[in-house]
Amino acid sequence: MESLPKCGANYVPLTPLNFLKRASMVYANRTSVIYAGTRFTWQQTYERCRRLASSLRSLNIAKNDVVSVLAPNVPALYEMHFAVPMAGAVLNAINTRLDAKTIASIIRHSEAKIFFVDYQYVPVASEAFRLLMADFQGFVAAESSMPLVVVIDDVDSPTGVRLGALEYEQLVQNGDPRFVPEEIEDEWDPIALNYTSGTTSAPKGVVYSHRGAYLSTLSLILGWEMGSEPVYLWSLPMFHCNGWTFTWGVAARGGTNVCIRNTTAAEMYLNIALHKVTHMCCAPIVFNILLEAKPHERVVITTPVQVLTGGAPPPAALLEKIERLGFHVVHAYGLTEATGPALVCEWQAKWDHLPRQDQAKLKARQGVSILTLADVDVKDLETMESVPRDGKTMGEIVLRGSSIMKGYLKDDQATSKAFHKGWFVTGDVGVIHPDGYLEIKDRSKDVIISGGENISSVEVEAVLYGHPSVVEAAVVAMPHPRWGESPCAYVALRKDSSGKVSEADIIAHCRKNLSGFMIPKKVQFMDELPKTSTGKIQKFQLRAMAKTIVLT
Ligand code: ADP
Repeated sequence: MESLPKCGANYVPLTPLNFLKRASMVYANRTSVIYAGTRFTWQQTYERCRRLASSLRSLNIAKNDVVSVLAPNVPALYEMHFAVPMAGAVLNAINTRLDAKTIASIIRHSEAKIFFVDYQYVPVASEAFRLLMADFQGFVAAESSMPLVVVIDDVDSPTGVRLGALEYEQLVQNGDPRFVPEEIEDEWDPIALNYTSGTTSAPKGVVYSHRGAYLSTLSLILGWEMGSEPVYLWSLPMFHCNGWTFTWGVAARGGTNVCIRNTTAAEMYLNIALHKVTHMCCAPIVFNILLEAKPHERVVITTPVQVLTGGAPPPAALLEKIERLGFHVVHAYGLTEATGPALVCEWQAKWDHLPRQDQAKLKARQGVSILTLADVDVKDLETMESVPRDGKTMGEIVLRGSSIMKGYLKDDQATSKAFHKGWFVTGDVGVIHPDGYLEIKDRSKDVIISGGENISSVEVEAVLYGHPSVVEAAVVAMPHPRWGESPCAYVALRKDSSGKVSEADIIAHCRKNLSGFMIPKKVQFMDELPKTSTGKIQKFQLRAMAKTIVLT
């Protein structure tokens, strides 16, 4: 055995780029992408990606250069997931809801060589450029330090706005269809750079490897039981952890990508009906959009649409409501640092015959590790002992395995802080149930400590969502003269309930479902709760508001 090389002569690095090449052969004439009036086949998508990659090379893009893009879920962003790494470069898909200052700081920090901008985002990108230019003023190298700009035009581009001389479709058309993609020497080479959304701290650049992306993609296909030829609706932004790896995953299954520019209820329902969508991913907040759709926007869903949800805790009451409409939900949990979902709440056949309500409660748990993650645990960080599997004892959720990021770009300090004794520390607090399924109780910063008792804000929120008039709910700590802290609920009501439901009604509902110390001592009503760019409720804002409340 010793005479054999460590990895055989046949070693081929793992990379999700192979999924496209394979799809172009196996599913050559099947529709790969649908967007408005445009359709491509897998053969065409492969050719377009090769052309774009060759154009990137002729613009002097070299190995490991960063290529940034600011675009909604349009075909160009999908193609760039393959074309950019085919040119040996690293894709940086920027969150489209960010402001000019943050976009400028990402371009500066990543040292992007090219910046692709969809026409819709030219105004914010121009402002980001103005800020970057101001930074460089006085330096001779100012112009050469700025990235080249390419505008992504569209069939329905209203003004033909320009920011720089280059245009996406021209680069595709001028490229070489026989371009041979850059050899990947090492599967640990970077493929993507994704900035965290900064819910709890400043955005950090998370680097994904070809290997991590490949393994995560396969795990999610398996964990979600996604069969071949799915019709996948892009209701999750592709910029969010590369669409939880389904940018690559849909190619792996020879599926059809249904691209939409806006995730309105009307667009989603229309496309579901028109293209017979079978799969989609979304944050729980999108369920509210679907549930609150006006009657003329809705369609009756005859064949269940498989939905993978995550990014924030989906309350059991919300899962129950959305499933009644014909969506079949699978719940996943993850972070940018884990290349998207790291846990999936895998369904067990023995749960099939339980009442709907009990099923929703089981589904609301975050689940078990995806297949390629080596390990997940809930630990006391001081002793690194695992908590008992009793569904009650809280600890820190920690992860280990190939799909965890390589580290934060240019931030060794944050990278070493993120890992503790060989584990990646998520910053989330959870419990493990006797059956091994994990349930999140809170982000460590969001736990409310009242008279020495830990209160999970997620648990209180789940009860609030069970009230028929509640659309959004968040619970944070407020000062309490006796208990130190106590829970304060911020609630948005259904439009037709506004003014009809009082603080006392909400508290009475909580009293029926929670222990006394967990009941919010105050309920504040808002039209809409403040959210981050990825649709998560900004608890830090609510916490700041709650701090000023004086209980008498
Ligand atoms: P950011 O940390 O900047 O908000 P991420 O998208 O990486 O951006 O968010 C990861 C966090 O989102 C997790 O640490 C966790 O707190 C929360 N999260 C993700 N999925 C779930 C889920 N299914 N249930 C509860 N919380 C979740």
